[in-house]
Amino acid sequence: MKIICSRCKILLGEQEPFDNPAEIKAKCTDCITKEKEEASRFTPKPLPGQKQEITLENGLKGVLWVAENKKDKLLLGDLAVSGKKFFCTKSGREKFQEYLKSLKGEDVEVSLLHSMTVKLDPAQRGRKKKENPPKTEESKKNHSIDYNCTMRVPKYYVQLMFNDMAERMDKVITFLAKASYEAYEKDCQNTGKSLK
Ligand SMILES: [Zn+2]
Repeated sequence: MKIICSRCKILLGEQEPFDNPAEIKAKCTDCITKEKEEASRFTPKPLPGQKQEITLENGLKGVLWVAENKKDKLLLGDLAVSGKKFFCTKSGREKFQEYLKSLKGEDVEVSLLHSMTVKLDPAQRGRKKKENPPKTEESKKNHSIDYNCTMRVPKYYVQLMFNDMAERMDKVITFLAKASYEAYEKDCQNTGKSLK
């Protein structure tokens, strides 16, 4: 018997009895990933002022909400703990630890930027019309929605989140610094300037 992916029809394997031409329907990992992505695209998102419970990949439950005010907006690399915003970097770790200790209780409320979506005008969905003026930065800003996720977790877990994010942010910063240096180097080569 042949094991076939029911979606893309790829042959995944064979199983006894081998002389039986019947097919066993299964799903390949690629198709499972694709279906998950499709499902998440259709997950209803909360509207401004609404909250929606979600379960994160690590099994934690959180609440998804729209960051409408400037004070609620978080950047990638930000954590808001009991209302105070922190940008996660290794150098800010001790200060963050002290703040965590100063909070009462075992669990604390932590928020992070969950995702962003860009709203499209109905007229701009589907085929692009040439007469549409190009979008300005200002109108783009007004059309993006930031979703924050808030959850209550033990303090030690918040510290882990901070460390993890700090590590990622340090990598991003190193990467950006390297890229900008390389661009500078190239620029110097092109213009004949000497490297500083
Ligand atoms: Zn497949």
